[in-house]
Amino acid sequence: MDAITIKDLRKSYSGTVALKGVDISIREGEFFGLLGPNGAGKTTTINILTGLVRKDAGETKVFGSDTVTDFRFTRRQVGISAQEFTQDWFFPLDKLLLFQAGYYGIKSADAIDRVEALLDRLGLKEKRNARIRQLSGGMKRRFQIAKALVHDPKILILDEPTAGVDVELRHELWRFFSELHNEGKTILLTTHYIEEAEMLCDKVAIIDSGKVVTEGSPKELIGKDATSGITIFLSESFQGLESILHDYMYTDDDKRIHFSTKDPEGDMPKIIRILSESGAHIQRIETDKSSLEDVFLNLTGKGINK
Ligand code: ADP
Repeated sequence: MDAITIKDLRKSYSGTVALKGVDISIREGEFFGLLGPNGAGKTTTINILTGLVRKDAGETKVFGSDTVTDFRFTRRQVGISAQEFTQDWFFPLDKLLLFQAGYYGIKSADAIDRVEALLDRLGLKEKRNARIRQLSGGMKRRFQIAKALVHDPKILILDEPTAGVDVELRHELWRFFSELHNEGKTILLTTHYIEEAEMLCDKVAIIDSGKVVTEGSPKELIGKDATSGITIFLSESFQGLESILHDYMYTDDDKRIHFSTKDPEGDMPKIIRILSESGAHIQRIETDKSSLEDVFLNLTGKGINK
């Protein structure tokens, strides 16, 4: 069964069309990335899924149950680390987590254990008595995640979880998300960091102007929609390239041959063999690996961070 099913989801905010019929299915245990530039509709999708925003039309289900009519069931399955920081300024962190556990009806003995474990796991133990305003940006992020996990949901939604955090903490969070994924959690991550989606996600949907424009594993998307470059520099110019390289897309300029390929790993050894068997002297090889960024550019005609 799918952990999350979204069908033909539509939403406008007084004249602004935010979602134009979004379809997404996320399998149980999948690490799914929703990738798109600002304003693409990521947060709106998530907010509808978690009941914060009302949809105009379409369907959102969690483990087969409708998130509107079966809200009591579906909200327990989902923990969300939202983009906006929580406004609970007055209580210490451990109390806030206990309140959150109470909100989900977790018995207090269990809640205490859960909160202790999360404070420990997220490196917040020493800050347990701190108020949110006293935390660094990175600690606030970690607190958001602890809060999302307090009722041990099967699905974790992370809305831009590493926006504005430094590289070190970003890598630390990535390790933590991977651990949660390995433990079996289904994770829906929104991000506009391509690298993040490429590193972490089994599957990615690229969303632009309220529509999913493509989806697949990062590898599939890169293979399907982007080409990589291989440039071979020869030590001497070579006559008769056309007769040996007719199966490949290339351009040449005296001692430099540039190939475009959708399968660089497969093509590179073949090209090298053909050239050396024909007596060409290869001096140097350069490759430019394509990425989801290229896929995004090809599909939408714009950079993702614009
Ligand atoms: P993303 O999370 O991908 O940045 P959003 O879902 O926040 O995208 O926004 C999608 C579109 O809906 C944008 O054009 C945004 O300006 C608009 N929008 C989002 N929330 C509101 C709101 N509360 N009122 C009016 N317009 C909104």
